[in-house]
Amino acid sequence: MKTILLGLSLLPLLAAPAAGQSARSAKSVEGSSSSLPTGISSIKEADLKRDLYAMADDSMRGREAGTVDEMRASMWLADQFRVIGVKPKGLDGTYFQWWNMQRTRVSTISSSVTLDGKPLALWTEISPTANLGGDASAQTIFVGDGRDSTIDVKDKIAVVLMQPPTAALRTTTNSYEYRYARAGITATGGALVRRGAAGVIVVADSIADIAYDGVWKIQERGTYDVPGGIPRNAPPTAGAAPARAPRLSGPPVLFVHRASLGMFRDNGHKVDIHLSLERFESPSVNVIGVVRGTDPKLRDEYVLFSSHQDHDGVRYAINGDSTWSGADDNASTSVALLAIARAFVKQPAKRSVLFVFHGAEERGLLGSRYHAAHPVVPIQSIVAVLNGDMIGRNNPDSAALLGSQPPHRNSTDLVNTALAANATTGAFHIDSLWDRPTHPEGWYFRSDHVPYARVGVPAIFFSTNLHPDYHTPRDKPAAINYPKLLHMTRWMYLTGYDVANAARRPALDPGFRLER
Ligand SMILES: [Zn+2]
Repeated sequence: MKTILLGLSLLPLLAAPAAGQSARSAKSVEGSSSSLPTGISSIKEADLKRDLYAMADDSMRGREAGTVDEMRASMWLADQFRVIGVKPKGLDGTYFQWWNMQRTRVSTISSSVTLDGKPLALWTEISPTANLGGDASAQTIFVGDGRDSTIDVKDKIAVVLMQPPTAALRTTTNSYEYRYARAGITATGGALVRRGAAGVIVVADSIADIAYDGVWKIQERGTYDVPGGIPRNAPPTAGAAPARAPRLSGPPVLFVHRASLGMFRDNGHKVDIHLSLERFESPSVNVIGVVRGTDPKLRDEYVLFSSHQDHDGVRYAINGDSTWSGADDNASTSVALLAIARAFVKQPAKRSVLFVFHGAEERGLLGSRYHAAHPVVPIQSIVAVLNGDMIGRNNPDSAALLGSQPPHRNSTDLVNTALAANATTGAFHIDSLWDRPTHPEGWYFRSDHVPYARVGVPAIFFSTNLHPDYHTPRDKPAAINYPKLLHMTRWMYLTGYDVANAARRPALDPGFRLER
């Protein structure tokens, strides 16, 4: 495993919790467990490791949403709930909340591109770059770098050399060439569409060429949503206002290898493009269980622990490995939730605790968007969402708490409880950079707490952040730091335990507004 240095010594750290915030004495920080809940002894590194190796095993085939592989992982989690003693809280007395994903993609079977009457191999030889249907039949015109705006491209197929993107690229992961290619295609192709081209063929430069296979393999998958859409901003009680309808057709922008330039370099080739979309549904599922609270008044309120069980499935091989196992993303939090469930079964709290594994997070937070709009308990009864995503990597002594500072903080009460719990369980340095609206990754917006925050539920996001193995087949169980995962699990647990036992539920901060 590569060591990632994030320059932590330079990071501003969040202030330590205010005195009196934690009910526990400093002794508990020193290792005395006398003031820690007894349930915490049920959280064991050996269990986390065994479960993580099972959930991210090759036999789980990367747990891709909408496939039997996500189903297999979901059944496995439900079975763990049953063994642990967590009660079902899904539909019809089961652990499952079923719903359908809707997938839209360019149809490989009914789409075609021909050059002077000869078919080109869709994707491998010439690749659509957007999820749009459309027809174009015209002569080509080569426009070089595309900057000469006196060339009339109207109603022609413009052939252009890709220009380097000027937009800022996210570079904290290994997908630099991919991001470079996507940004370059969008800028270079878009400019010619705006000048009236009937279609555009973007020729890769040397950097984008490295990402050619990645671009088409991801593009070929299409986009995912829930039929009819899920309201993104409106509270679920406001009715099912459909999400903005996606644009389904437009002038095609195609992408070819750098080596294909010779085929298109001369003007006047006849190109026929026919792209059609196909749309179909496939099931995904949220796995939901509950440990009932003990207080007759508070037990109808819920602390929601959140993870996602899906990952990216079996994809193109990197270094001979095609199984994108998602050990950190997000088997790490999933097995943490199982351990936390063991602790609450051993020692229930006053409030009830809801455990939700969201399906299809990787396809656009679909499971959490679905559950926030169709919660299995009244949304007002959910007092807090404690979400985790990728909690087992990077520097052993630091972690992030997203939603802990403005503008992402929606409950100072909840954040203070989490910071106090951190002080008790061993005190990670809190990396505050990744929670900032200026952070290039926009990390706050990329996991399952967001749909809950949008509908007014206090929500925080525990993470140990991205690393170069993120969304690659290298995200394997052997690269997880298990002592750190144990530490993160204890921190999430104690935060939830304290919220579940507090006299008052955490208050929402007034005026919370997301910048996106
Ligand atoms: Zn994730």
